[in-house]
Amino acid sequence: MVPRHDSKALRMGATRWESWLDHVWRSRIWSVGAEWSADFLSLIYPTSCVVCEAWDVSLCQPCGEQVCRATIQPRHAEDWAESLPVHSLRGSPLPVLAAGIYAGALARTVLAYKNHGHTDVGRVLATALARSLHIARHQAFGQDHPELLIVPVPTRAGSLRRRGYDPVRMLVTGLQSRGELPDGCSVSPAVVQLGVLTAGNPEELRRALTGVRAAARRRTRSQKGLGSRGRRANVAGSMTVADRFAGRLEGRHCLVVDDVLTTGSTIAEVDRVLRSERAVVVGAVVLAATPPPGLTPCSLGK
Ligand SMILES: [Zn+2]
Repeated sequence: MVPRHDSKALRMGATRWESWLDHVWRSRIWSVGAEWSADFLSLIYPTSCVVCEAWDVSLCQPCGEQVCRATIQPRHAEDWAESLPVHSLRGSPLPVLAAGIYAGALARTVLAYKNHGHTDVGRVLATALARSLHIARHQAFGQDHPELLIVPVPTRAGSLRRRGYDPVRMLVTGLQSRGELPDGCSVSPAVVQLGVLTAGNPEELRRALTGVRAAARRRTRSQKGLGSRGRRANVAGSMTVADRFAGRLEGRHCLVVDDVLTTGSTIAEVDRVLRSERAVVVGAVVLAATPPPGLTPCSLGK
């Protein structure tokens, strides 16, 4: 029910309004409206499957099932990425659990989600990510449930302006709002790109999207097409701790989350920032990992 703008409504504090908006967002009315809108928009802008290009649906059932099969058994991929940091306690590369291999239906779905505005295929990716997060948490702590901060890798300034959303952060905050994160986990956007305002509220997001730069802005280009050395140089020093987390991370366990693992240089940069705040990085989780040259998905049994 929509509240009238009477004196009682005007007395509602910001918290109650947020609660009400959250209720509307979750309500059946909203979802029915969203379905009607999607149907209406599909008449104007016909859509097609991001994998097989079948009409009328962003991810058809057979392709959705392919993505599920590709992510049913997450695997460690730290041996594939030469630029990963060394785990502070083990002396070996930081463990990275990948929901799947970056190939086929999974690769196309990830690409459509992060680069082509297909946020509507995010649900299947979120499910895959949640599975990997549960496994990674269990591998790090067993049956214990200590506090674990889920730290999404921040998107680049240019990407944020172009897309209008931060893909990884959107996935993990969605999991959190639906109560699908492992016990003890909470999303903590503790690392930001230099020059991208934290975008934690509408005003900051507006300023970020309209191109207001922080004085310390450092430009980074897309990692695509760069070799491992180029990728390291491109992201080194490009991130910093978010203001509201500065000085508050010492001794806290963190799990880094990213979309695609290639050389590991981006995760290494997030790890550097977290360690500079004396946080304990227990590992990373990615949606998909790129196998090194010579290792094809077929040879890996996928
Ligand atoms: Zn399809």
